Amino acid sequence: MAHYDLLIRNARVLDAETKFDDISDVAITNGVIERVAPEIDPAKANDSIDASDQWVMPGMIDTHVHVANTSDFGELRGAGLPMVAAAGATTVIDLGGSMDVLVAGIAARGSGVNVGSLGYLKPGETVPEGRLSTDVITEIVGTALDAGSIGIKLWGGYYPFTPEETSDLIATANRMSAYVAYHVGTTATGSRLDGVREIPELLGSTGRLHIAHVNAYCRGSILPIEDEIREALQILEDLREQVVSESHLASMNFTKGKCDEDGNVLADVVSNCLKLRNYDPTYEGIRAALRDGYASAVEETRTGLVLVTGERGVELFVAAQTDISMSFPVNSPVSGFHLTSARNSRNEFTVDAIASDGGALPRNMNLEQAFRLVKFGAFEPLDLVAKLSLNPAKMMGLVSKGRLSEGNDADLTVIDPEIGNASHAIVGGDLVMMAGRVIGTGGKILTTDRGEEAIAATGIDYELLDLTQAMMYAGRG
Ligand SMILES: [Zn+2]
Repeated sequence: MAHYDLLIRNARVLDAETKFDDISDVAITNGVIERVAPEIDPAKANDSIDASDQWVMPGMIDTHVHVANTSDFGELRGAGLPMVAAAGATTVIDLGGSMDVLVAGIAARGSGVNVGSLGYLKPGETVPEGRLSTDVITEIVGTALDAGSIGIKLWGGYYPFTPEETSDLIATANRMSAYVAYHVGTTATGSRLDGVREIPELLGSTGRLHIAHVNAYCRGSILPIEDEIREALQILEDLREQVVSESHLASMNFTKGKCDEDGNVLADVVSNCLKLRNYDPTYEGIRAALRDGYASAVEETRTGLVLVTGERGVELFVAAQTDISMSFPVNSPVSGFHLTSARNSRNEFTVDAIASDGGALPRNMNLEQAFRLVKFGAFEPLDLVAKLSLNPAKMMGLVSKGRLSEGNDADLTVIDPEIGNASHAIVGGDLVMMAGRVIGTGGKILTTDRGEEAIAATGIDYELLDLTQAMMYAGRG
């Protein structure tokens, strides 16, 4: 008689919490890991996967994606959901989206992946214009939680608030045990090292915060890049009991190519990217950069959004009358590498997690890039698991995820070391991705007590998070 629902056989099983790294079988029943042991009898399982020569880790948790943007890249609702599943993620956190868009996205293109979402703060949309009083700020955070979001995202690099408002938003979210993530920058600073330098003042002695994509603030715009990295790491270390953080390993940024009637590029970011390689910040400059393979345009395909360069990129840019998402390889690999691998004197990673800042943005490459660090010798396999699963689980207070041991959720990511990327993803015991092909549907929304009513009304499956368990509140333990 069958006992297990699914048996994964002969895999190299990796668990960062127990430091387990050995060939073993993993048996799953009712969405939970029931047994981890060598040579479990396959006759006792309804289904089995031979994972010889494959690595199995607790499911990858990506703490920074965009799958619920109101101004979606492209027209496809939920386009990012199959893209994160294809990359091997089993749980993702949308860093600044709308719950309505997420619900519509899961209905249209859910891939079986768990999703938590932070409400974005944009004056005129989710936040009233003008100065924000503490009462208004309390209402803003409450509205996000009531909608089912697990907290808020401050988009300082795009919609900065004053230092006082920023500080108040963080303190209010903290008081309400809401998650709070910050793309640095206020009206006094930018999305640069000066924005990082401002954080201790914003937090005071008690504030708690998730700092998004630390590498994006170390591009060498204020100091030589190595000095910026060193200073950012020191600030994170000094704030160790108050902040959690992630960095990504993709060189590509994302921006808009739109030009005015005279053929001049509108976005500052695009101008800077073009000037960096001596292209004119114009319509012609963009066409030349596309033709040379420096710039890419984002194209919608059946399986998601992809980057396209060369003549085809020029065609897309012209056809869209310049109003198209574009990408340039401008993120420094030096800051990506150093911030990802840096450790403190206790040999702990200074930056807690690798996240993709992907989702609908086609750069869901954290697993493949982290695997390169293993090949390079900068990471042990268990470091990869800590950065991609255990630490992210701790950051979000997901107490039964991020651990591949008996009694925990059967969320697993299988890595094919031959290709250096995810080969299977399993969520709650169900396969959602096989050999890059996404077969999962639907999804589960991570929400809090306060959002339960709203999410239950959508009919989408959900799970309640206790954010007092999240690392920023519970500590590192
Ligand atoms: Zn982002």
